[in-house]
Amino acid sequence: MVPAEEVILRGLPVSKGIGIGFPIFFSNWEEDVQEVEISDKDIDREVDRYRKALHQSREDLERLRKMSLHEGPPEIVAILGTHLEMMQDPMMTTVMEDKIRDLQRNTESVFHHLIEEYKKRFSKLQDSYFQERVRDLVDVSRRILNHLCPLQRTKMSEIPNNSIILTHELVPSETVEANSSLVSAFVTAAGGITSHAAIIARAKGIPFVANIDIKLFKRIELQSLVVDGSQGLVIINPNRKTLKKYQAIKRTQQESYKLLKSSTHLKGETVDGYEVRIFANLENPKEVDLILKNGALGVGLFRSEYLFLSKKEFPSEEEQFEIYKKMARQLRGRPLVIRIFDIGGDKKVDLLPEQRDAKYFAQIGHELNPALGCRAIRFLLRFPELLEAQLRAIIRASAFGEIHILIPMVSDISELRQVQAFVKKICKELKEKGIKFAKTIPVGCMIEVPSSAIMCDSLAQEADFLSIGTNDLVQYVMAADRSNPHTVELYFSTHPSILRLIRMVVASSNCARKPVILCGECAADPSLIPLLLGLGIREFSVAVRHIPIVKHTIRKWRILEACRLAEGALEHTAAQELKEYLAAETVR
Ligand code: PEP
Ligand code: MG
Repeated sequence: MVPAEEVILRGLPVSKGIGIGFPIFFSNWEEDVQEVEISDKDIDREVDRYRKALHQSREDLERLRKMSLHEGPPEIVAILGTHLEMMQDPMMTTVMEDKIRDLQRNTESVFHHLIEEYKKRFSKLQDSYFQERVRDLVDVSRRILNHLCPLQRTKMSEIPNNSIILTHELVPSETVEANSSLVSAFVTAAGGITSHAAIIARAKGIPFVANIDIKLFKRIELQSLVVDGSQGLVIINPNRKTLKKYQAIKRTQQESYKLLKSSTHLKGETVDGYEVRIFANLENPKEVDLILKNGALGVGLFRSEYLFLSKKEFPSEEEQFEIYKKMARQLRGRPLVIRIFDIGGDKKVDLLPEQRDAKYFAQIGHELNPALGCRAIRFLLRFPELLEAQLRAIIRASAFGEIHILIPMVSDISELRQVQAFVKKICKELKEKGIKFAKTIPVGCMIEVPSSAIMCDSLAQEADFLSIGTNDLVQYVMAADRSNPHTVELYFSTHPSILRLIRMVVASSNCARKPVILCGECAADPSLIPLLLGLGIREFSVAVRHIPIVKHTIRKWRILEACRLAEGALEHTAAQELKEYLAAETVR
């Protein structure tokens, strides 16, 4: 072990801000419980491993119960008694052993999924008795799993405060569960600047540094950490001077954010009076009220797949209808752009064959190139029952507000036409049944694949609006994985090719008199906003947290200056030169 000295590591800055806290090695069951097929000859060995883990857990409980009989309190004795009884239950003994034999998979994965299944069933029952049983079940299963794979484990929702999460990779479904008052920062080995986990970390204001060798931390005596998300620094065991310096920077940053936030209700308008409309990107439907409180004109991008990612089950039409209806009502007539499920790519879904929705992922779960695979609209068109259920829920909810439908990852106009045909058919069916829906429900295309950017004139003619998704557009145009820290050098949001494509999309939309909005992460980057204004973007959609800085930046520029800046930028053909030009010209 290396003693507790200050050590500075440099990584990839992903989310700004200063995090000061204590390290936690994070791994969750999905990450750690690997599913492994076992051969016939290994079945008995796996069953034996399970019996041993069960036996050790019983011994633990007996020991604890004996101790508690002397030291109390009596409630603990009763709880431990219940846990011991649960371990005798056929579910924990014969059912589990039969499952290992039938499924021929490693014990921990079978056990983990069996427990999740029971938890789900119990959780649906509101009765407090059953809620108690769920807690007991979780407790007991954790004990057994700890004997099966005795590593340190943590759950994002069970993180103590001031934690700095150290993990190999963050996935979006975990990041979305992180509580910014508990998690001070993320430090990972993998992950790029516009990975979905990064987008959520920024939206929550949690500092994040990637491309750090996490294994190194295991060899150092760790006491505390400072994470500087702006510079991409991770400081292990900071000395008093360093700590004081970063505490001061953190305070200043918090104060300036507060100040900025106080003007979030000002109009999105340039110095010379051009209106720029600011909408919000949203993952969690429970956060709709924040939209109005923070001066957004509505929801410019609702990433509906998060309804699925956190639940690991497609919400039914009815469940979706209730959610969309509630959101539409809360927005009181302001637009709600629902992007239909963008599943796949870095939004991974690992399910066991017996899980309800596993059939949908059997194939795509094993793609060699998931970003180029059956993602988003391709996935939905392969499973039209899911697409129809989602569209029907959206169309029914349109009776309660202004709802728009957005199609992710359009790469051919036929995908737009197919969705339009579904919408038409569903509207006809609803009308026949006398079910209400809005007179107009605009259907738009995400422009995030080179083919759709190149064909934007045709798409602009047939779609009701376009939405430029630069996070993916940059990834696909530059052939640089948005989640890979090693392709960051190539992932240029301001590559000359990207600027030309944005200009083309704006021109086509204007020509077809259709709205165009930009909802990628660069819309929230103060150093790029003037350039985007100059390229003709007049609608931005950004995470709620970024609205103040976006408005603040817009309010400092004149359109004429922004156009001049863009004209100059378009003259550059090399990415690095363009970067330098922008750095020199956008300082205010
Ligand atoms: C994008 O690609 O720019 C976008 C907004 O969509 P997402 O980040 O969800 O892929
Ligand atoms: Mg995208």
